[in-house]
Amino acid sequence: MTITNKNIFILTGAGISSESGIKTFREKDGLWDNHKIEEVCTIEAFQKNPDKVNRFYNERKISFNRSEISPNKGHIALFELEKICKKDFLIVTQNIDSLHEKAGSKNLLHMHGSLESLYCMYCGNKIAYDFDLDSSYVCFKCKKPGNVRVDVVWFGEQPKYLDQIYKFLDKTEVFISIGTSNNVYPAAGFIDYILSRKEKILLYEFNLEETAKSGLFTESFKGYASETLPNFLELVSNGIY
Ligand code: NAD
Repeated sequence: MTITNKNIFILTGAGISSESGIKTFREKDGLWDNHKIEEVCTIEAFQKNPDKVNRFYNERKISFNRSEISPNKGHIALFELEKICKKDFLIVTQNIDSLHEKAGSKNLLHMHGSLESLYCMYCGNKIAYDFDLDSSYVCFKCKKPGNVRVDVVWFGEQPKYLDQIYKFLDKTEVFISIGTSNNVYPAAGFIDYILSRKEKILLYEFNLEETAKSGLFTESFKGYASETLPNFLELVSNGIY
């Protein structure tokens, strides 16, 4: 048996990037880098204090782009897996960093957006950026100030690419979840959606610890993704998985 002859869906979360030096969400009491999530990851927070939210993402962007932040062996193993996969392959990441693309991954969707772009809430203009955003920034298309925000999905907002994602889930034969706490929906519900198809699907989880959904997986690989993923890749290459 080899999974490379099957359609593979990979879901990644903050855990895959933690060994690259990017903090996960819930390390301490639901704080992200010492910030309360409701103060920086909601539209209400942005409306109340846009520059606080802008500062938070400006700092994240600067820290993601530090030279020492690079893809780890987990990201690279997924790139290698994509290369040997003979059927369809998709990574759906909840992460807003760009470490999967830096590792070389091609079939990739950022369902929670990324820090590569901004968009204007007034006219929808999408803007690539490499500067600090502040609320005085004026959209160059509609010329309206105060409407430009980071292109990330905040709590209470609809994730991106859901049509494409569910279409792929409908044909998924191998579902692999990596470094996600399975607390944030709809991503946490992908496994339930797949199981509702009542077909035989291989479900693998990679995490440091048990998650709310661990019991649903065919097999859980506990440990650091930078170790468990390369080991898994080797077993796949040898036809064990
Ligand atoms: P989370 O922080 O809620 O959970 C991280 C999970 O990864 C935990 O279950 C933890 O046990 C596991 N983990 C930590 N280190 C690991 C490692 N080395 N190997 C394997 N597993 C490891 O993350 P989530 O479920 O992705 O939460 C989703 C939200 O967090 C998303 O909306 C995302 O945008 C946001 N977020 C993104 C980043 C990023 O872009 N890198 C960082 C923090 C938070």
